[in-house]
Amino acid sequence: MAAETDVAGHPVDEALEADDAAIRTRGLSKRYGRVRAVDGLDLTVPRGSLFGFLGPNGAGKSTTIRMLTGLVRPTAGEASVLGVPVARRLTLGGRVGALVEQPAFYAHLSAWQNLSLLASLSGPTARKRLEEVLAVVGLTAVARRRVGTYSHGMRQRLGIAQALVPRPELLILDEPASGLDPEGMAEVRELLTSLRDDGLTIFLSSHMLAEVEQTCTHVAVVARGQVVAQGETGGMLRGAAPGTRFVVDDPGRALEVLAAAEPPAIEAEAVDERTVEARAKGRDAAELNAILVRGGVRVSEVTPVRRTLESFYLETVSNAVEEAAGTAGTSGRAGA
Ligand code: ATP
Repeated sequence: MAAETDVAGHPVDEALEADDAAIRTRGLSKRYGRVRAVDGLDLTVPRGSLFGFLGPNGAGKSTTIRMLTGLVRPTAGEASVLGVPVARRLTLGGRVGALVEQPAFYAHLSAWQNLSLLASLSGPTARKRLEEVLAVVGLTAVARRRVGTYSHGMRQRLGIAQALVPRPELLILDEPASGLDPEGMAEVRELLTSLRDDGLTIFLSSHMLAEVEQTCTHVAVVARGQVVAQGETGGMLRGAAPGTRFVVDDPGRALEVLAAAEPPAIEAEAVDERTVEARAKGRDAAELNAILVRGGVRVSEVTPVRRTLESFYLETVSNAVEEAAGTAGTSGRAGA
């Protein structure tokens, strides 16, 4: 029997099928004419994670999600969802729930009527299940109200309820918090966290870095159609040399002392007339403090500088864009 091939004619990697990642892609690509919307994307989404998929406008997030949900065919590479190659994802049935476009509901019908109608399209669904999902998304009390009277946040939650009806193992959401006010965002954040606590894997694209930092166990940053960083959120933010702020009597002297220290080199800058910030790979705050004190600097306060996902993201994307500029002219890709 001939070896099975993917849409680009490459042999299908059987290991992808046995994989226990919720989503795995290898060299996943989508071209629209000369535009490389997704360009060799390697992504691994562990089961049980709440995974944030980040990237600038035009980076290829939606196109990736459309390939994962079977709306768009890849032009090259492989992707598997719950161990099933995307080309054969019909066999997944209700194991994957997705909210990719704005959810469309009949405004004159209630949440209950909308859900019953949509659920009936994919087979008989127990009334109890609809009640359960409405309770999960916190809409029980308003389930009989016309959806036309719902806020944007309530509609988003109803969209998630709809995706939850068949008890999926994986939920794929394209910008679930976009356009929501802070209350709406908090509602969606709490809902996603509790779903993840119940064992669901959730993969979502987002521009809300603070939200993602608070809720997502894992993140990937995509730029120009490729993954430029991915991993466990806390680990990624801790991975880079963390900075420490020192309140000192003489910042000028502090900078001199730090610059004159034995290697490894210490990066330091004045933050204001009393504070310097320093960081060095392999040197912790206590060691930097000792160097300052030995150099005759009086230190009155030591504070670790927490790296935010925003600073990590901005740095990662700008490095990727600079790197790409170095190879400009060789790529026909458009977008960020
Ligand atoms: P955003 O954050 O703005 O939603 P994104 O990361 O989701 O952006 P995509 O929508 O995947 O990015 O788009 C990636 C690139 O592919 C962009 O340059 C976009 O213009 C292009 N693109 C997407 N869909 C099509 C299409 N149907 N035809 C032609 N080009 C497309």
